[in-house]
Amino acid sequence: MKILLTGGTGFIGSHTAIELIKLGYEVEIMDNLFNSKITVLDKIEKISGVKPKFYKVDLLDKEGMDDVFSEGQYDLVIHFAGLKAVGESVEKPLKYYENNVCGTINLLECMKKHGVKKIIFSSSATVYGDQGVAELTEDMQTGVGITNPYGETKHIIEEILKDVAEAEPEFEVTILRYFNPVGSHPSGLIGEDPNDIPNNLMPIIMKVSTGEIEKLRIFGDDYDTVDGTGVRDYIHVVDLAKGHVAAVNKMKPGVSIYNLGTGKGTSVLEMVTAFEKASGKKLPYEIVGRRAGDLAEVYANPDKAKKDLGWTAELTIEDAMNDTINYLNCLEEK
Ligand code: NAD
Ligand code: UDP
Repeated sequence: MKILLTGGTGFIGSHTAIELIKLGYEVEIMDNLFNSKITVLDKIEKISGVKPKFYKVDLLDKEGMDDVFSEGQYDLVIHFAGLKAVGESVEKPLKYYENNVCGTINLLECMKKHGVKKIIFSSSATVYGDQGVAELTEDMQTGVGITNPYGETKHIIEEILKDVAEAEPEFEVTILRYFNPVGSHPSGLIGEDPNDIPNNLMPIIMKVSTGEIEKLRIFGDDYDTVDGTGVRDYIHVVDLAKGHVAAVNKMKPGVSIYNLGTGKGTSVLEMVTAFEKASGKKLPYEIVGRRAGDLAEVYANPDKAKKDLGWTAELTIEDAMNDTINYLNCLEEK
């Protein structure tokens, strides 16, 4: 089976490429390299033995994408490409709607033109908004109470995909709602490497540990959680990548939606402690006020993915921290 990964040089796409190649899938990558580096391709080759064919093409470049599909003859697209910085999406909403939503419409039009009818989409737990409960299941209503344009783009794209599948009965759509991806490949060669100042907890912890950011600002310690700090479901990126492989194997007509999470919540302070334990270093932090739009506690109910895809997350927070530190050490050695 030949698979195109849009955004495949990015954090989650590159890990997924490796897991797919390991199982013998033919993988090609299309990315505009806005938030990733071309050198990732060599690292994928070093780990998997195969360097995927690469196209530097933007989702907004319809002609460029048409050429990719004319050459490619793909069976399936895994659509990772998108902008993902929540804070920036509040400041530049049009950029986010154009890139993520218009980009996906262009991709779907191109797929239709070239007879490619299978797509897996990178969605997010953010589409659930505030449900008033911590444990989230796929059948909950989505799209209410989303607090930023990034999250809106994920919800809108999900709705577009549902409409396309309704109109084109042979379309096979799988929507994967990721919880909080963390960790790196155990080889230390690839991991999260944002071009900009990150907003997510784990890349900030990484930059505090390397001294690029002075200290972690913990957004609130007065939530009704285990220690007052926010609780999320952190999933190791290698487990997440394997979730995509499981989804590829179980594509079916219509729309299938799965949470990819561990089912377990971890607080910000527990993450800090786990990082300190793995690194043997203190991580400087201060408690500051709550971040607008944040929820106290969120974690996946992963039962549907287990039942239908035969997939469960196996790695722990300790694994994620050890792999991240290994990755940081490898970066330093260069
Ligand atoms: P990433 O930024 O590392 O990877 C995304 C890739 O898409 C980048 O390589 C970027 O250059 C590329 N890209 C962006 N816009 C493009 C365009 N117009 N044309 C071509 N390429 C483009 O991000 P990631 O963490 O690997 O996330 C992958 C997907 O998963 C994204 O859609 C993201 O929204 C989604 N997601 C991520 C998280 C997370 O916390 N990392 C959580 C939930 C969902
Ligand atoms: N967080 C924090 N300081 C930061 C970034 C995040 O305390 O600099 C907290 C945040 O309030 C939340 C958790 O870490 O409780 C995860 O935040 P992230 O932005 O990574 O994921 P999301 O909130 O989108 O699930």
